[in-house]
Formats: sequence, C-alpha cells, structure tokens
Amino acid sequence: MPDRHGGALRVDAAKCADSCAACVPACPTHAIVREPGKRVSLDLGKCVFCSACVEACPPHAITHTKAQVLNGAAAVVPVDLFIPGCPPHPLTILDGLLRFLDRLEKSP
Ligand code: SF4
Ligand code: SF4
Repeated sequence: MPDRHGGALRVDAAKCADSCAACVPACPTHAIVREPGKRVSLDLGKCVFCSACVEACPPHAITHTKAQVLNGAAAVVPVDLFIPGCPPHPLTILDGLLRFLDRLEKSP
C-alpha cells in the first residue's frame, strides 16, 4: 500500500487521558465517540482514515496500524474468490471475472 494510506486505527487505552476528548471534534465523520467516564469508541465503518484524530491526540494514543483489512466480507457472506489491490488493477478485475466465469462453467 502507498505510504499515504493509513491502516486501521488503534487506541492505546493506557495513554488515553480520562479528561481528554480532543479527538472527538477533530473527526469529520463523527466516527469517534467518548461518553463521560467511558473509553473512546471508534466506528471504523464511518472512518475515512484522514488521520485528523491521530494529529489531534496530545499523548499520541491513537495510531494507524498496518492492518489493511478491517472486516473480512467472508465473515458475513460466503466468498470463494478475492481480487487483490486497493483499488485493484483493471486487469486484475478482468482476471477475477474470468476465474469466476470458469468456476461457473465447471460447477454442477
Ligand atoms: S482517521 Fe479521520 S475519519 Fe477516521 S476516526 Fe480519525 S478523524 Fe475520524
Ligand atoms: S485525543 Fe487521544 S488522549 Fe484524548 S480522548 Fe482521544 S485518544 Fe484519548
């Protein structure tokens, strides 16, 4: 992945100060919530990986990880063919389509 791409976010609870909520207003998509007395909650479904929260966090408690896969689709729906790349190269998509059609032909 290119350097500009941030991976999934992680919050180090040990570094996160109880009295702080600086990351909450910094998030443009309202992906971060912190209710009084509770831990920071991140909704990665809303996250656009802009890094605003990482920059806003005084003790650097929020960091990008190297994880590029958030929630595997295979955990929700049956998947037997994956196309690599983000975004995938057009030839990779074509290759995936041809493999899919080949499997359809060979299926009973
Ligand atoms: S990376 Fe951006 S969109 Fe994602 S939680 Fe942080 S501020 Fe919000
Ligand atoms: S900005 Fe950092 S220290 Fe403050 S609440 Fe968010 S994660 Fe915790």
